[in-house]
Amino acid sequence: MPTIVYHLSWEDVNALGTTAETVPGILSAMTVFSVTHRSSQTGARCGFLTLPHAPEPIPTPVFMPVGTRGTVKAMTQEEVWELGFRLILGNTYHLYLRPGHELVRQAGGLHTFIAWDGAMLTDSGGFQVFSLEELRKITEEGVKFKSHLDGTEHFFSPERSIEVQYALGADILMAFDECPPYPCTEEATRAATERTHRWLERCKTYHDAQGTAQLLFGIAQGGTYEGLRAESAQFVASMDTPGIAVGGVSVGEPPDMMQAAVGWSLPHLPPHKPRYLMGVGTPRDILDAVAQGIDMFDCVLPTRLGRNGTLYTTRGRLNIKGSRYTDDFGPVDPNCPCRVCRRYSAAYIRHLYKCDEILASRLATYHNLAHYAQLMQGIREAIAADRYEEFRRQTLAGYEELADAASITAGAE
Ligand SMILES: [Zn+2]
Repeated sequence: MPTIVYHLSWEDVNALGTTAETVPGILSAMTVFSVTHRSSQTGARCGFLTLPHAPEPIPTPVFMPVGTRGTVKAMTQEEVWELGFRLILGNTYHLYLRPGHELVRQAGGLHTFIAWDGAMLTDSGGFQVFSLEELRKITEEGVKFKSHLDGTEHFFSPERSIEVQYALGADILMAFDECPPYPCTEEATRAATERTHRWLERCKTYHDAQGTAQLLFGIAQGGTYEGLRAESAQFVASMDTPGIAVGGVSVGEPPDMMQAAVGWSLPHLPPHKPRYLMGVGTPRDILDAVAQGIDMFDCVLPTRLGRNGTLYTTRGRLNIKGSRYTDDFGPVDPNCPCRVCRRYSAAYIRHLYKCDEILASRLATYHNLAHYAQLMQGIREAIAADRYEEFRRQTLAGYEELADAASITAGAE
């Protein structure tokens, strides 16, 4: 089926009448996701994701920078845009507490509030409220939790999470799920997975009744258990959401276990829908998960590590604070065309870190996001040219070049 590509703003959608009857028609006309190429040697595929706030279809596989509190830390929205990103994340839990979802609604939604011209995805808040171990109480109805800011009591249910996400106004909403920790017994993982399924049904019922054009993605769980991963993927696929996430990864499990969880889930997901691996990951994790057939990623690593002085390069990760960069007047990555590498030396960036200058975080974050943007572009081009496996091998071999990268990554990755 040919992809019909056009851009709809919420205003356009509203003008068309966002009732439960008309919305499915609008969405099918928009063709949310289309696959244009499939790798012949791996499960990798590339294509386009069409979202109401994206000015043009977003090429996949795509990496989404994380804007937890309505900002991709240390970057302006113009810089994120300039790097080619058109889809970023907002965090429901944090934005609900500050500045409050009603204020964001009053501002005209998150896109308007933060002045972002692209598309957005919001998580459900589930991951954060479940992380508040001391401060939360889980029941079948939802989760009662205390704000980490001031101790005030709040309650999130599947319906409440969707309602808050409506106020934030993202293009993609995530279902409220229970993410089991790692490690976790099979019994406890099953309980969390089955609750996630019941909560997805409630999210979907609530969302369908509202009839908005926002896309609700279901989340498959199942922890580190093959049977549960398969069961969960099958259940979430049966709910017919426009996209599906593989959740419960990147919670401390080893990379092999993460890839295994993906491998157990994907065969049960419909091939024509976008697949989102939540919270992943390192360039290596992304290269391996793309090979399995994942289309969407988000991770705090390029921004968080950038602020700490860890830079991703085509030769591996490096710690710019290291003494070897004291008089390195070349760019951080000679192979990187970003404007930081074209202009500033490794020695200068190291100096900024040593002096705790704000500019250090800005330059490192910009470069790291540029590295991720280039990685994703390389991935897409390689899939389209059907040389993905070769690209993956060469890119991974390149990452081994720096000696200190090996020592940094030994524990962390
Ligand atoms: Zn660069």
